Order: sequence, then C-alpha cells, then structure tokens
Amino acid sequence: MSFFKRHGLRLVSGLLLVGILAMVAFSLSWKNNVKHLNTKVSSVSKEQTSITLQKDSIESIVVSLTDSVGVLDSVTDYYESLDFQLEIARSQYGKAIYALEEEILAGDNPTKIMYLTLDDGPYDRTHDFLDILDSCSINATFFVLGKPKMKAVYERILREGHLLANHTYSHRIRTGLYRSTSSFIEDVEKLDRFICDEFGLPTNNVVRFPGGSYQAFSLRRPIIDSLHSMGYQYVDWTGSTHDSSDSCLTADSAFFNATLDCDHDIDVLLMHDFSKISLAALPRIITNFRERNYTFFPLVKESHVMGR
Ligand SMILES: [Zn+2]
Repeated sequence: MSFFKRHGLRLVSGLLLVGILAMVAFSLSWKNNVKHLNTKVSSVSKEQTSITLQKDSIESIVVSLTDSVGVLDSVTDYYESLDFQLEIARSQYGKAIYALEEEILAGDNPTKIMYLTLDDGPYDRTHDFLDILDSCSINATFFVLGKPKMKAVYERILREGHLLANHTYSHRIRTGLYRSTSSFIEDVEKLDRFICDEFGLPTNNVVRFPGGSYQAFSLRRPIIDSLHSMGYQYVDWTGSTHDSSDSCLTADSAFFNATLDCDHDIDVLLMHDFSKISLAALPRIITNFRERNYTFFPLVKESHVMGR
C-alpha cells in the first residue's frame, strides 16, 4: 500500500475539518462584523435624528428671534410716534394758551387764568396735593428737583396730567448754584436729563430759579440769555401763600396771601408741596379763584407770563 493510500483518507478528512473550521470562524467573524456595523448604523441614524431635531429647534429660535425683532421694531415705532404726538399736542396746547391769553389781555374774554405751581418736590406730601387737585379736576405745574428715590411720585404727577417743570437738579442756592452762569445751566440740564432718562420725556422747557430770578443778582441777565439761547423760558410768580418765608403762617393767612396777591387777568401762584399749611389752605384757595372766574391750566413756555 502506497503512502497516499495509507494516509490519503486522513489527509482529506483533516483538510475538510480545517475547511469547515475556517468557514465556521469566518461565519462567526462576519456575523460579528454585521452586528457591529448594524450598531454603528443605528448610532449614526440616532445622531442624524438628533442633529435634525437640533436644526429644527435652531430654526424655530431664529423664527422666534425674528418675530421678537419685528415686535421690538413696532414697539419702537409706536413710542417714536407717541413722542411725536406728544410734541404736537404740547405745541398745539401752547398755541391755544397763547391765543386765549391774547384774547384775555385784549379784553375780549372775561375768563381769568390761574397757573398753580408747586416747587421743590416731589415729597411724600405731594400725594396729598395730587389728591386735592384730582378731586377738583385741576392740572398744575410741578417745578421739581432731582430726587431719584421719589420716582413713583414723578410718575403719578405725569400720569394724572400735570406738567413737570425745571427747578434745577440740586436747588443749592447757598452752595454753588449761583457761582457762575455755567454752574446754574449745568444744574438745569442735569434735571432735564434725569427726567428724560427716567420718564422718557422732557420737561416743559420752563425754568424757575430757586429763590426767584433776582436771587441770581448780577448773574441773572447772563443766565436768562443762556436759557433763552437753549430754548428755555423762565418764570417767577405773581402771588404766593408765603409758605417758605413766613414762620407764623396759618391756613387762613396762606389763603389770604394767595388770594390777595393774585388779582390779575393771568396769575401764577407759588406754593411748595412740602407745606402742610398750603395743603390745608388749597381747597379754599381753589374755590375762591373759581368764584372769581379763574380757570386753572398747566404752564407752558408760550404763556405771556414768561420772564423777559
Ligand atoms: Zn425752590
């Protein structure tokens, strides 16, 4: 028996076994590879879904931001148009006041005008003055100072239709306000900036000198010229309750001071919204002026009572 015949069967069997084992190994490895591939495909597919979702989300944020910008634009337009309307309303009111005063001064209209002005505020007590003005349907002019802690009171003054006018930011009569023309003007501008920044609108461009214009002595004329060149007017007063000068003041004397001082066709009454006595006298003062044919208006720079 040849070698092949003796060992051929074993060799063939061995080769077959090796082949089968190789196929099994290959098959197992292929299955593993397929499984691995499937896992990868599934993970990539999940990532793709997540990216798609993120893209959708970013797109919706962009849409929402675009909408917000649109809303902001329309709000800005709205406020700009309100500013414009306010400007027009003020100018029309100024012209109407000027025309009415012309008629009164010419003797063609028996009405008298009272400009009620309250200085140095706002104070907590300003609320009590506002209550009386509200109950009497009167709009007044508040010559305010810069008081950042009193924002709610400024807001109420504006909300109830009164005007804010400029009494300088600091009112430092004895400590620098009247040191020079520029120190006074800077204080006026500071107050206007404060009102504009906090409440979004300017004052009525009418200034009252703390202590009255004669308090500025030799600087009075240069300050007035500067104010005029900047578009401001200034006003003193024709009558007052004397609530800052009379330490023995009573509600009765405050009433008599105001009603005796003010006896012109067009009057400007001064009181201070810190004064409990002026507050007590105010209802009687209003009644008295109304009986004497006065109508109360807020003060604007077009009025004839502005100083020259
Ligand atoms: Zn004052």
